[in-house]
Amino acid sequence: MEDKNLLFDEITKEIFSCKKCLLYKTRHKPVPGEGSLDAEIMFIGEGPGRNEDLTGRPFVGAAGKFLDELLAGIGLKREDVFIGNVVKCRPPNNRVPLLSEIEACKPYLYAQIAIIQPKIICTLGNTPLNTLISPHLTIGRVHGKVFKKDGFTFIPLYHPAAALYHNALKVVLKEDFAKLKNYLENLKEKNL
Ligand code: URA
Ligand code: SF4
Repeated sequence: MEDKNLLFDEITKEIFSCKKCLLYKTRHKPVPGEGSLDAEIMFIGEGPGRNEDLTGRPFVGAAGKFLDELLAGIGLKREDVFIGNVVKCRPPNNRVPLLSEIEACKPYLYAQIAIIQPKIICTLGNTPLNTLISPHLTIGRVHGKVFKKDGFTFIPLYHPAAALYHNALKVVLKEDFAKLKNYLENLKEKNL
């Protein structure tokens, strides 16, 4: 569908001039997200960090490197998937985005999801889990499980940055990526 690109570019333009929350004041570049608009999987993080804010690209720092490794482990490249965030502008000092900031920014993410229509949405860490799936869940309890909501399938994962602080989570993330791969292969076998 050619107009996917047009629609996506329109959202990106809106994000670039957005002042719907105060994060616009301190951002350098907004980070709309990037990847294939035909992606079967979307990975959604919390919000841009320092490197992302400076480059305008999602997951380009240390956590991003680990995400690339996890993708490679299941035979995927960054370009095969879509990588985005709940908020598009960096919260100062990487604080967790406020609920008001999330509410202001959420329509962009929903619009991106509606365009891409992924088979699976992987939330990374608590912020996207609480935003997209349920505010009552915590990642430690639900990582690697499958959730269905509003016609979409979600698999919450730990945030790759968490594994950089807690080494044991690396194995957990690798296992959950293997589950993700299996789930996708099963869908294909059933022609879904
Ligand atoms: N952490 C996130 O949640 N998002 C990024 O884009 C980078 C790091
Ligand atoms: Fe707009 Fe989202 Fe940036 Fe806030 S974080 S200014 S809502 S694009």
